[in-house]
Amino acid sequence: MLVVQKYGGTSVGDLERIRNVAKKVISYREKGDRLVVVVSAMAGETDRLISLATSITKSPNERELDVLLTTGEQVASALLAITLNSMYCEAVSLQGHQVRIITDSTHTKARILTIEKDRIFSELDKGRVVVVSGFQGIDVNGNITTLGRGGSDTTAVALAAALEADVCEIYTDVDGVYTADPNVCPRARRLDAITYEEMLEMASLGAKVLQIRSVELAKRYNVPVLVKSSFVDGPGTLVCKEVPKMAMEKVMISGVTFNKNEAKITISKVPDRPGIAAKIFSALADSNIVVDIIVQNVSKGNYTDITYTVAKTDAKKAYKITEQVAKEIGAEQVILDENIAKVSIVGSGMMSHYGVAAKMFSTLASEGINIEAITTSEIKISCVIEAKYGELAVQALHKAFGLDKEDIEEE
Ligand code: ADP
Ligand code: ASP
Ligand code: MG
Repeated sequence: MLVVQKYGGTSVGDLERIRNVAKKVISYREKGDRLVVVVSAMAGETDRLISLATSITKSPNERELDVLLTTGEQVASALLAITLNSMYCEAVSLQGHQVRIITDSTHTKARILTIEKDRIFSELDKGRVVVVSGFQGIDVNGNITTLGRGGSDTTAVALAAALEADVCEIYTDVDGVYTADPNVCPRARRLDAITYEEMLEMASLGAKVLQIRSVELAKRYNVPVLVKSSFVDGPGTLVCKEVPKMAMEKVMISGVTFNKNEAKITISKVPDRPGIAAKIFSALADSNIVVDIIVQNVSKGNYTDITYTVAKTDAKKAYKITEQVAKEIGAEQVILDENIAKVSIVGSGMMSHYGVAAKMFSTLASEGINIEAITTSEIKISCVIEAKYGELAVQALHKAFGLDKEDIEEE
């Protein structure tokens, strides 16, 4: 078997943990598997490097930021290779540019274009474990790039796809994908399996256990992804194309997520005529700002209100642009609210059940939580609420939809 394994920051957080990873790797080698191991930077290291750069200037040069951030993974990959070699398991570390993981040139959020296989296969053929630094690549001009926060997941899945590995195992600090973040909702349950579609929604709605782009890749190339704990043994969660019916039948909702990284911008008293929305959102698109939820009210006396959400990191920029456009189109006021959370329920069971939205809204109402905006897709419903209610909302919805551990045990 050819196995790609990825160990996240906490899993390689100190030398003791790196030794623990090395032991795991060796146990696979002893079974005869060929192993490519992707590592993240040691826990907290990427944040530390970012804060060093931003203490010099608020907006560090992005090319240089990438050079800086990739050092975190370089350290971790070398330390793991040194540890493996010291334990008599031949290993070699490779950085993104040595493998030749070619990306586009969008510094800090580059996309993988191609992965060259020759170097990795030649090392594997020599009987070595190949340790690859996650999160990094190189563009066609030889500049170092990074793949965005959480990008080591994407490195692992992309490698698994390129090398046609039998499985991609993601080792992290939780023992699988849960019905809600187990650190927020103590009654959350581990899922045995989840479909790519559901995992995509969960990841895009705030479940950071897998970077969304890694799930997109896994889906496109049909890579089975197994999420497991590096600290305790267990079956983990399989992310795959189809989940056996038995597990799905009774399930209306597979998970509840929340995200506090968005901000809400409202433009009030917008003249209601064709082309106005296009004008506002074209201005944002021209500045590479991704807009998430958009809500427009029914017009009253030829005026309407428009509300949208963006990532908090883009909020100030979006606010400035919107104020400018608001002046041009004669809207009354622009209000920025960074104090929001988006809470979502996800599940393909929703397609065949009625009353799901009603249940979500009444659950929030019974907790006294006001809904500020709503969006839906076939398999998810999201509500924007006040930030301070985020955790409470997750717990209440988790219970209301029968996902709590207790309810399952009673069945
Ligand atoms: P790593 O450093 O291994 O990449 P991350 O911190 O990126 O780990 O992701 C693991 C974390 O994801 C968990 O500690 C957990 O708090 C969070 N998480 C959020 N939602 C979920 C979920 N539905 N299931 C499991 N973990 C989740
Ligand atoms: N070290 C990077 C981060 O902290 C990439 C990763 O861990 O996946 O975002
Ligand atoms: Mg991660």
